[in-house]
Amino acid sequence: MEQTLEVILAHSAGTCFGVQGAIDIAENKRTPILGPLVHNPKIVGDLAKQGIPILERYTDLESLKKEGIKEVIITAHGYPKEIKQSLNEQGIKYHDATCPVLLKWVYGKIETFEADGYHVVIVGNPKHAEIIASRTYGKNTHVVYSEEEIDKLPEGLEKVVAICQTTITREKFETLVDYMRSKKYPHLKAVDTRCKPVKNQQEAVEMLAKWVDAMIIVGGFDSSNTTNLAKLSQKYLPEKTYHVDSPAMIQSEWFENVRHLGIGAGTSTPKSQIKEVQQKILDLFPGKVLFRQESKDGEILDVDFTPDDEF
Ligand code: SF4
Repeated sequence: MEQTLEVILAHSAGTCFGVQGAIDIAENKRTPILGPLVHNPKIVGDLAKQGIPILERYTDLESLKKEGIKEVIITAHGYPKEIKQSLNEQGIKYHDATCPVLLKWVYGKIETFEADGYHVVIVGNPKHAEIIASRTYGKNTHVVYSEEEIDKLPEGLEKVVAICQTTITREKFETLVDYMRSKKYPHLKAVDTRCKPVKNQQEAVEMLAKWVDAMIIVGGFDSSNTTNLAKLSQKYLPEKTYHVDSPAMIQSEWFENVRHLGIGAGTSTPKSQIKEVQQKILDLFPGKVLFRQESKDGEILDVDFTPDDEF
């Protein structure tokens, strides 16, 4: 009997408005970009193929001047405040592709809380470009990503608020907030600053991973939100979660004893890449493949899929 594989796409998957906005700025301005625009090798590669130079993220400004570069683009994860000031001082014009969620909401929250007398603690990866930038929008922000780092926070602060990296999981944020309340600041205020696309995608992947037989998560390995989607899925499918940044990674053995296969994708994953993954599954699976789409309320909808469709 012919085998059937149902491939279900998460209700929210792929490029968010912040990433799309950054791509639009880069393609429109076509000036050198100060680092990978977003954490997706396909998007960065496509921009490079269009002849847009991708520079080191924190390129020395003197070397920019020596090379006669007068205009640059700041990446979607944002840039430290003082580097923006230096660009202005050096007369290098920058086009700001920082996601509006960071520019208007996260930086705004840090400034408003500080003005109100709060100490701001950001829960996030201190090495991630978003956090390297965000922390500079406050005068004295703290960054923590583990219990050990919380142990080193100053004692006796009265007004303290915790916010988080936009792409962190809710579970990680809550765990560290609980720890901070129990060990350091009992009256800690906490504000979940994950952005809406990230919340939707995490919820969509979790909903699928609970019942499908295997999950493929599509997106760059540098992408914090994609990596977190893979971790969420692994909670339910520890042996059957596959994180891929290219359709070439997909193997036919992954479909053995799998009737329902879920697909999730990070906010920096282009829709075209999701489609390439669907096409690869179609090419590799020996039986019949049915494409489905998860709805926001968990209903599974039939969708037509043909390789030439535009998303
Ligand atoms: S994931 Fe969120 S913060 Fe990051 S670019 Fe997209 S909308 Fe902006």
